[in-house]
Amino acid sequence: MIILFLVGAITGSFLNVVIYRLPRKESLAAPGSHCPRCKEPVKWYDNIPIVSYMVLQGQCRNCGQPITPRYPTVETLTGALWVVAGIQFGMDWPLLPALLLISVLIAIFYIDLDHYIIPNVIVLPAAVIGLAANVAISPGDWWVYVVAGLGAGIFFLAVALLYPGGSGMGFGDVKLACMLGFFLGGAILPGLFLSFAIGAFSGIFLLLTGQKGRKSRIPFGPFMAIGSIIALFYGDRLLELWLGLAQ
Ligand SMILES: [Zn+2]
Repeated sequence: MIILFLVGAITGSFLNVVIYRLPRKESLAAPGSHCPRCKEPVKWYDNIPIVSYMVLQGQCRNCGQPITPRYPTVETLTGALWVVAGIQFGMDWPLLPALLLISVLIAIFYIDLDHYIIPNVIVLPAAVIGLAANVAISPGDWWVYVVAGLGAGIFFLAVALLYPGGSGMGFGDVKLACMLGFFLGGAILPGLFLSFAIGAFSGIFLLLTGQKGRKSRIPFGPFMAIGSIIALFYGDRLLELWLGLAQ
Protein backbone atom coordinates (compact mmCIF):
# COMPACT_ATOMS: atom_id res chain seq x y z
CA MET A 1 0.00 0.00 0.00
CA ILE A 2 2.94 2.32 0.71
CA ILE A 3 4.36 1.48 -2.72
CA LEU A 4 0.94 2.14 -4.26
CA PHE A 5 0.88 5.56 -2.59
CA LEU A 6 4.42 6.42 -3.73
CA VAL A 7 3.87 5.34 -7.35
CA GLY A 8 0.52 7.17 -7.25
CA ALA A 9 2.22 10.36 -6.03
CA ILE A 10 4.85 10.10 -8.80
CA THR A 11 2.03 9.59 -11.31
CA GLY A 12 0.33 12.65 -9.80
CA SER A 13 3.52 14.60 -10.42
CA PHE A 14 3.31 13.60 -14.11
CA LEU A 15 -0.42 14.49 -14.14
CA ASN A 16 0.55 18.02 -13.02
CA VAL A 17 2.69 18.32 -16.14
CA VAL A 18 -0.17 16.99 -18.31
CA ILE A 19 -2.72 19.33 -16.68
CA TYR A 20 -0.52 22.38 -17.22
CA ARG A 21 1.07 21.68 -20.59
CA LEU A 22 -1.43 19.62 -22.61
CA PRO A 23 -4.10 22.36 -22.97
CA ARG A 24 -1.31 24.84 -23.82
CA LYS A 25 -0.09 22.48 -26.55
CA GLU A 26 3.37 22.29 -24.98
CA SER A 27 5.55 19.19 -25.13
CA LEU A 28 5.19 16.92 -22.10
CA ALA A 29 8.84 15.87 -22.30
CA ALA A 30 10.87 18.97 -23.09
CA PRO A 31 11.87 21.36 -21.69
CA GLY A 32 12.21 19.86 -18.21
CA SER A 33 10.37 21.38 -15.24
CA HIS A 34 11.35 25.00 -14.73
CA CYS A 35 10.18 28.01 -12.77
CA PRO A 36 7.64 29.99 -14.87
CA ARG A 37 9.19 33.29 -13.66
CA CYS A 38 12.99 32.92 -13.52
CA LYS A 39 13.11 29.92 -15.93
CA GLU A 40 15.56 28.20 -13.58
CA PRO A 41 15.37 24.42 -14.17
CA VAL A 42 13.98 22.53 -11.18
CA LYS A 43 16.74 20.35 -9.67
CA TRP A 44 15.88 16.66 -9.26
CA TYR A 45 15.95 17.01 -5.46
CA ASP A 46 13.43 19.86 -5.69
CA ASN A 47 11.15 17.75 -7.87
CA ILE A 48 10.20 15.03 -5.37
CA PRO A 49 6.41 14.71 -5.10
CA ILE A 50 4.82 16.32 -2.01
CA VAL A 51 8.15 16.42 -0.09
CA SER A 52 9.82 19.12 -2.19
CA TYR A 53 6.86 21.46 -1.86
CA MET A 54 7.13 21.24 1.92
CA VAL A 55 10.94 21.59 1.94
CA LEU A 56 10.74 24.63 -0.35
CA GLN A 57 7.79 26.00 1.64
CA GLY A 58 5.91 26.53 -1.59
CA GLN A 59 8.49 28.81 -3.26
CA CYS A 60 10.99 28.61 -6.12
CA ARG A 61 14.44 28.00 -4.61
CA ASN A 62 16.00 30.52 -7.01
CA CYS A 63 13.59 33.50 -7.09
CA GLY A 64 10.98 32.86 -4.39
CA GLN A 65 8.08 32.73 -6.87
CA PRO A 66 5.16 31.00 -5.07
CA ILE A 67 4.46 27.45 -6.32
CA THR A 68 0.78 26.61 -6.61
CA PRO A 69 -0.45 24.29 -3.83
CA ARG A 70 -2.24 22.40 -6.60
CA TYR A 71 0.97 20.46 -7.29
CA PRO A 72 1.21 18.71 -3.90
CA THR A 73 -2.61 18.44 -3.84
CA VAL A 74 -2.72 16.47 -7.12
CA GLU A 75 0.20 14.29 -5.98
CA THR A 76 -1.41 13.51 -2.61
CA LEU A 77 -4.85 12.98 -4.16
CA THR A 78 -3.53 10.55 -6.78
CA GLY A 79 -1.52 8.61 -4.18
CA ALA A 80 -4.49 8.46 -1.77
CA LEU A 81 -7.03 7.36 -4.42
CA TRP A 82 -4.62 4.70 -5.69
CA VAL A 83 -4.47 3.34 -2.12
CA VAL A 84 -8.28 3.32 -1.86
CA ALA A 85 -8.38 1.42 -5.16
CA GLY A 86 -5.80 -1.03 -3.80
CA ILE A 87 -8.02 -1.65 -0.75
CA GLN A 88 -11.18 -2.01 -2.87
CA PHE A 89 -9.83 -4.22 -5.63
CA GLY A 90 -6.88 -5.97 -3.97
CA MET A 91 -3.79 -6.91 -5.93
CA ASP A 92 -5.83 -8.27 -8.80
CA TRP A 93 -6.24 -7.46 -12.51
CA PRO A 94 -9.22 -5.08 -12.08
CA LEU A 95 -6.89 -2.82 -10.08
CA LEU A 96 -5.04 -1.81 -13.27
CA PRO A 97 -7.96 -0.20 -15.17
CA ALA A 98 -9.06 1.35 -11.84
CA LEU A 99 -5.68 3.08 -11.39
CA LEU A 100 -5.76 4.27 -15.00
CA LEU A 101 -9.31 5.60 -14.67
CA ILE A 102 -8.45 7.50 -11.46
CA SER A 103 -5.40 9.11 -13.08
CA VAL A 104 -7.26 10.06 -16.26
CA LEU A 105 -10.15 11.56 -14.28
CA ILE A 106 -7.84 13.68 -12.10
CA ALA A 107 -6.27 15.16 -15.25
CA ILE A 108 -9.70 15.75 -16.85
CA PHE A 109 -11.06 17.29 -13.63
CA TYR A 110 -8.46 20.06 -13.62
CA ILE A 111 -8.16 20.59 -17.39
CA ASP A 112 -11.94 20.98 -17.82
CA LEU A 113 -12.08 23.24 -14.74
CA ASP A 114 -9.35 25.53 -16.13
CA HIS A 115 -9.98 25.45 -19.88
CA TYR A 116 -13.49 24.04 -20.48
CA ILE A 117 -12.08 21.30 -22.66
CA ILE A 118 -11.78 17.53 -22.34
CA PRO A 119 -8.85 16.57 -24.59
CA ASN A 120 -9.48 13.80 -27.12
CA VAL A 121 -5.85 12.80 -26.82
CA ILE A 122 -6.64 11.62 -23.26
CA VAL A 123 -10.23 10.36 -23.59
CA LEU A 124 -10.03 8.35 -26.84
CA PRO A 125 -7.00 6.16 -25.99
CA ALA A 126 -8.30 5.71 -22.44
CA ALA A 127 -11.70 4.58 -23.79
CA VAL A 128 -10.04 1.93 -25.97
CA ILE A 129 -7.80 0.70 -23.16
CA GLY A 130 -10.68 0.69 -20.63
CA LEU A 131 -12.93 -1.40 -22.88
CA ALA A 132 -10.11 -3.76 -23.87
CA ALA A 133 -9.08 -4.27 -20.22
CA ASN A 134 -12.63 -5.05 -19.06
CA VAL A 135 -13.27 -7.43 -21.96
CA ALA A 136 -9.99 -9.21 -21.17
CA ILE A 137 -10.77 -9.40 -17.43
CA SER A 138 -14.41 -10.52 -17.74
CA PRO A 139 -14.93 -11.81 -21.30
CA GLY A 140 -18.39 -13.17 -20.44
CA ASP A 141 -19.63 -9.64 -19.66
CA TRP A 142 -18.07 -7.87 -22.66
CA TRP A 143 -21.47 -6.64 -23.87
CA VAL A 144 -22.22 -4.95 -20.53
CA TYR A 145 -19.30 -2.57 -21.05
CA VAL A 146 -20.14 -1.96 -24.71
CA VAL A 147 -23.78 -1.19 -23.88
CA ALA A 148 -22.79 1.01 -20.90
CA GLY A 149 -20.34 3.05 -22.99
CA LEU A 150 -22.55 3.47 -26.06
CA GLY A 151 -25.65 4.06 -23.90
CA ALA A 152 -23.99 6.79 -21.84
CA GLY A 153 -22.55 8.38 -24.99
CA ILE A 154 -25.94 8.39 -26.78
CA PHE A 155 -27.64 9.83 -23.68
CA PHE A 156 -25.18 12.73 -23.49
CA LEU A 157 -25.37 13.24 -27.25
CA ALA A 158 -29.15 13.57 -26.96
CA VAL A 159 -28.81 16.12 -24.13
CA ALA A 160 -26.18 18.09 -26.08
CA LEU A 161 -28.32 18.13 -29.24
CA LEU A 162 -31.65 18.87 -27.53
CA TYR A 163 -30.32 21.70 -25.37
CA PRO A 164 -27.39 23.18 -27.32
CA GLY A 165 -25.68 25.83 -25.23
CA GLY A 166 -28.26 25.72 -22.47
CA SER A 167 -27.19 22.49 -20.89
CA GLY A 168 -23.49 23.22 -20.67
CA MET A 169 -22.94 19.81 -22.28
CA GLY A 170 -20.45 19.63 -25.09
CA PHE A 171 -19.15 16.88 -27.29
CA GLY A 172 -16.24 16.47 -24.90
CA ASP A 173 -18.78 15.32 -22.31
CA VAL A 174 -20.29 12.86 -24.83
CA LYS A 175 -16.93 11.20 -25.43
CA LEU A 176 -16.12 11.24 -21.72
CA ALA A 177 -19.47 9.55 -20.90
CA CYS A 178 -18.72 6.84 -23.46
CA MET A 179 -15.26 6.28 -21.94
CA LEU A 180 -16.75 6.08 -18.44
CA GLY A 181 -19.25 3.42 -19.53
CA PHE A 182 -16.42 1.33 -20.98
CA PHE A 183 -14.60 1.51 -17.64
CA LEU A 184 -17.52 1.25 -15.21
CA GLY A 185 -20.01 -1.06 -16.95
CA GLY A 186 -23.27 -1.14 -14.98
CA ALA A 187 -21.80 1.18 -12.34
CA ILE A 188 -22.10 3.99 -14.92
CA LEU A 189 -25.75 4.38 -13.81
CA PRO A 190 -25.02 5.38 -10.19
CA GLY A 191 -21.97 7.24 -11.55
CA LEU A 192 -24.06 9.49 -13.78
CA PHE A 193 -26.73 9.88 -11.11
CA LEU A 194 -24.07 11.06 -8.65
CA SER A 195 -22.53 13.37 -11.29
CA PHE A 196 -25.85 15.12 -11.93
CA ALA A 197 -26.67 15.29 -8.21
CA ILE A 198 -23.28 16.76 -7.28
CA GLY A 199 -23.44 19.10 -10.30
CA ALA A 200 -26.90 20.37 -9.35
CA PHE A 201 -25.99 20.95 -5.70
CA SER A 202 -22.72 22.67 -6.63
CA GLY A 203 -24.49 24.83 -9.22
CA ILE A 204 -27.06 25.99 -6.66
CA PHE A 205 -24.31 26.56 -4.09
CA LEU A 206 -22.20 28.63 -6.52
CA LEU A 207 -25.27 30.70 -7.52
CA LEU A 208 -26.33 31.33 -3.93
CA THR A 209 -22.85 32.31 -2.79
CA GLY A 210 -22.51 34.57 -5.83
CA GLN A 211 -19.39 32.83 -7.10
CA LYS A 212 -21.07 32.13 -10.42
CA GLY A 213 -23.78 34.13 -12.16
CA ARG A 214 -26.86 32.73 -13.87
CA LYS A 215 -25.17 32.96 -17.26
CA SER A 216 -21.71 31.77 -16.31
CA ARG A 217 -20.45 28.50 -17.66
CA ILE A 218 -19.79 25.68 -15.27
CA PRO A 219 -17.96 22.74 -16.87
CA PHE A 220 -19.63 19.37 -16.29
CA GLY A 221 -16.50 17.22 -16.66
CA PRO A 222 -15.33 17.78 -13.06
CA PHE A 223 -18.67 16.52 -11.72
CA MET A 224 -18.48 13.45 -13.95
CA ALA A 225 -14.97 12.83 -12.63
CA ILE A 226 -16.11 12.98 -8.98
CA GLY A 227 -19.27 10.92 -9.58
CA SER A 228 -17.34 8.28 -11.52
CA ILE A 229 -14.62 7.86 -8.91
CA ILE A 230 -17.30 7.27 -6.25
CA ALA A 231 -19.04 4.85 -8.64
CA LEU A 232 -15.75 3.06 -9.29
CA PHE A 233 -15.50 2.27 -5.58
CA TYR A 234 -19.15 1.92 -4.54
CA GLY A 235 -21.15 1.78 -7.81
CA ASP A 236 -21.78 -1.96 -7.80
CA ARG A 237 -23.06 -1.84 -4.23
CA LEU A 238 -25.30 1.17 -5.01
CA LEU A 239 -26.63 -0.66 -8.05
CA GLU A 240 -27.48 -3.76 -5.97
CA LEU A 241 -29.14 -1.53 -3.38
CA TRP A 242 -31.32 0.16 -6.04
CA LEU A 243 -32.24 -3.13 -7.68
CA GLY A 244 -33.11 -4.51 -4.23
CA LEU A 245 -35.36 -1.52 -3.49
CA ALA A 246 -37.09 -1.82 -6.85
CA GLN A 247 -38.24 -5.36 -6.12
ZN1 LIG B 1 12.02 31.00 -9.96
